[in-house]
Amino acid sequence: MLKRYKGKNGKSKKKWYEYLWIFSSIYILLGFVNILFAWLGLICFMLPLGISIFKGSKSYCNYYCGRGQLIDLLGSKLKLSRKKDIPRFIRSKWFRYGFLVFFLGMFSIMLYNTYLVFAGVGELREVITLLWTFKLPWSWANTIDAVHPGVTQFAFGFYSVMLTSTILALSTMVLFKPRSWCVYCPMGTMTQTICKIKNKKIIEDDMT
Ligand code: SF4
Repeated sequence: MLKRYKGKNGKSKKKWYEYLWIFSSIYILLGFVNILFAWLGLICFMLPLGISIFKGSKSYCNYYCGRGQLIDLLGSKLKLSRKKDIPRFIRSKWFRYGFLVFFLGMFSIMLYNTYLVFAGVGELREVITLLWTFKLPWSWANTIDAVHPGVTQFAFGFYSVMLTSTILALSTMVLFKPRSWCVYCPMGTMTQTICKIKNKKIIEDDMT
């Protein structure tokens, strides 16, 4: 739960990080304008991992995740969610970890394709792959020729990952409770696992 601070008029003041949903929304729109903006999405990968590794905390999910805020806003405030319970199997460990493994596998393939283009073996593919299956032509967003094709290939691949996960987040928001995506979000699963391991180690170290 976010802490609210009261202003002089008694109304609670919002903190800057409560507006990060705007960053997430603009990020998705920018991918339609210039694909190289996709690189900015690395912040949403590095930051939660960094916070969980170095601080052993899930504060990224609790405070700073723009996507989590966005689905909360759309589902709760705009009432776009049916607010049904998510099926129990999605909450299960095997599904969450299975989805994480699948996600990381697909991410690795994306990195390998990027490597091939960097190495001059593969050709730049100006497509966005939705849900790891549907290839959409996206050449209009490739407007800068001055960068290496490998840089652009990573942007297409990474934006595919971000758009796919956004679609899944929005779909599960509509079908189930607003933040249902957070139940099986790979970043959430990864950071939760890191925090568990790290905090267990701290307890063990304190006991020795
Ligand atoms: S679980 Fe994923 S979407 Fe939800 S708050 Fe955490 S990082 Fe964001």
